[in-house]
Amino acid sequence: MKRIDERDTMFARMSLKKGTRQYEDYYSRNKDKKALDDEIRERPNICGPGTATYSEVNSPIADANFLFLEDIRKFSEGEINPNKVDVSKEEMTKKLKGLTLHYGAALVGICDMKDYHYYSHRGRHAEVYGEEVYSEKHKWGIIFAVEMDKEMLNRSPQLAEVIETSNIYVKAGIIGMQLSYYIRLLGYDARNHMDANFLAVLPLVARDAGIGEIGRNGILTTKEYGSMVRLGLVTTELELIPDKPKEFGLQRFCELCGLCSKTCPGKAIPIDDKKNIDGHLRWQIVQENCYGIWRNIGTDCGICISSCPFSQGVTEELIDSDEKIQEILESHKEKYKVRPYIREAPEWLK
Ligand code: SF4
Ligand code: SF4
Repeated sequence: MKRIDERDTMFARMSLKKGTRQYEDYYSRNKDKKALDDEIRERPNICGPGTATYSEVNSPIADANFLFLEDIRKFSEGEINPNKVDVSKEEMTKKLKGLTLHYGAALVGICDMKDYHYYSHRGRHAEVYGEEVYSEKHKWGIIFAVEMDKEMLNRSPQLAEVIETSNIYVKAGIIGMQLSYYIRLLGYDARNHMDANFLAVLPLVARDAGIGEIGRNGILTTKEYGSMVRLGLVTTELELIPDKPKEFGLQRFCELCGLCSKTCPGKAIPIDDKKNIDGHLRWQIVQENCYGIWRNIGTDCGICISSCPFSQGVTEELIDSDEKIQEILESHKEKYKVRPYIREAPEWLK
């Protein structure tokens, strides 16, 4: 599988400032992206004045979370204790998985990290723009999912949505810090991959560690919580026992469902069949359409997350036939009509 270049992601592109070396480099190689990116860059910032959900008092709640994440980013890597403790992979796999759940994650898995899990180059911060990512350094990844509050996400795309996603980014970032500090104290290198500081593509890592599948909406969907999660990752040189991918029937479900595509305000999620992209049959969202909506609305939208039946809870253990899928879709429609939506903000946010 071809490695993804972080410079091509919307967050990296939107961080480019006109007149800088990085801006000139990127758009000299990607002339076709320049006009649309410049136009989106002119729009108000997420949580900023001028967006549809802006509130002078409430928008800074999410801003504060992102600011905090920015401040702790530098602790993602750190000194390794020179006195290495002798441990076994069996003991550490069990302990680290248990600890991750104890710290508040809902799901955890171990990934045998391959080249394609890592970005090829960094793109998100000017000081590291264009740096190659060395995939051979950390061979194991502890990947985990932290559950988001359904009541908050079912208000998507209101401000409640970004208050909760940023809150869970903080929680995932802190769990990753605790794990990586611990592993380094045992004498093994470890790195926390947290919001705005990823060297790897977390949904791919989570899929390969058996936490969930990637469906039509392009993000990780788990059997237990749907896409109502945020992911965290710690990569390490400490040897662990990897898990295997586990399918629960999402691919066929997505073929028959398409709810995320139908409800997406940016028409970013394809409604047609999977396409061959770089040798793999899959759906690919139009990231410019998605991100453009975020800059208009002022939150990271989240409608596709709340629209997904798995995010609302699919209790059937086995999804083994088209009839079963149709039954689940029918009962979802009966309960939520087009999609679940709570119009009122929570009392404490009014
Ligand atoms: S976050 Fe919103 S705009 Fe983006 S893909 Fe999901 S529904 Fe569409
Ligand atoms: S909403 Fe439907 S099509 Fe979209 S990811 Fe969920 S199951 Fe798949």
